[in-house]
Amino acid sequence: MSSSAPVDGTAARSVLELEQIMAPALASRHARVRGFLHRLASRPPQVLLMEGGTVDERAAMALYWAALLNCTVDGGKGVRPCLACTACAQMIACHHRDMFFLDGREESIKIDDVRAVRGVLGEPPRGGGQRMVILCEAQSLGVEAANALLKSLEEPRPGTSFVLLAPQRERLLPTLVSRSWVLTLAWPSAETVPVDPDVVEWGEALAEFARTGTGWFQRTSAKGALDNSVAQRVVVMMQRTLAAAITGAAEAGAPSLLRLLAAQDALTHRRLDEVLAECQESLVFNVNPALVLDWLATRLALLCALRR
Ligand SMILES: [Zn+2]
Repeated sequence: MSSSAPVDGTAARSVLELEQIMAPALASRHARVRGFLHRLASRPPQVLLMEGGTVDERAAMALYWAALLNCTVDGGKGVRPCLACTACAQMIACHHRDMFFLDGREESIKIDDVRAVRGVLGEPPRGGGQRMVILCEAQSLGVEAANALLKSLEEPRPGTSFVLLAPQRERLLPTLVSRSWVLTLAWPSAETVPVDPDVVEWGEALAEFARTGTGWFQRTSAKGALDNSVAQRVVVMMQRTLAAAITGAAEAGAPSLLRLLAAQDALTHRRLDEVLAECQESLVFNVNPALVLDWLATRLALLCALRR
């Protein structure tokens, strides 16, 4: 589909659409990370790894970085990235001929995609700016594809900036992480995900199960109680509650779950965050939602019991 898109694809996207794509990166809570990117832009690292935030925020921030490195507005005369010049617009819409956006959000990134990018790396960027290779949700790289990518990262590639996106750096091969400059986006917060009262009772049940080891499996096995969408909302609710427990923010979610999570230490918080990211991924890949939530409940109970 995207291969048939015109090279000059700016007409295909309205300014409104471009603004919508960029919005998650422009939130005030990401001002710190944007500030870092501006400082890095004069000498961009070959590989930038962005973790934290939500999937949409990571993707938008990678496009912001691409626009920043390619914007044609003079920094002395205007704000960069302007998000309006041709280079910005084409980068954000992923229509720029120096933009390679490998999308692992819905299915894994294939070795053929990585090979196709490797094929052009020996040539200078065509547009005179910075070539961008973005691996969106790089944890979905297969082992072969990750190793092929690694070979590219080992050699200096003047004019090319790689961006790896992942929920946490621990989800990637350590050899990839060690070659990267790592930036951590702010945790998902209440302002980015609306309150979902329907799933509060699931949160209360999770807390009850972690405390007592009862009352959970009959919920997930009840006919019709749980589909993929409900399970995804439960995972998002727990991510929000975890973020609130860590930051001490007031949260309108499940109060027992918040109390339970707030009582855990930083290591447990980080492990739970990884568990939640894996649940999210499993649901994207259509693993049975009851299995995913049962695994979540079991991990939660074990992690909290270990730290009791
Ligand atoms: Zn621009």
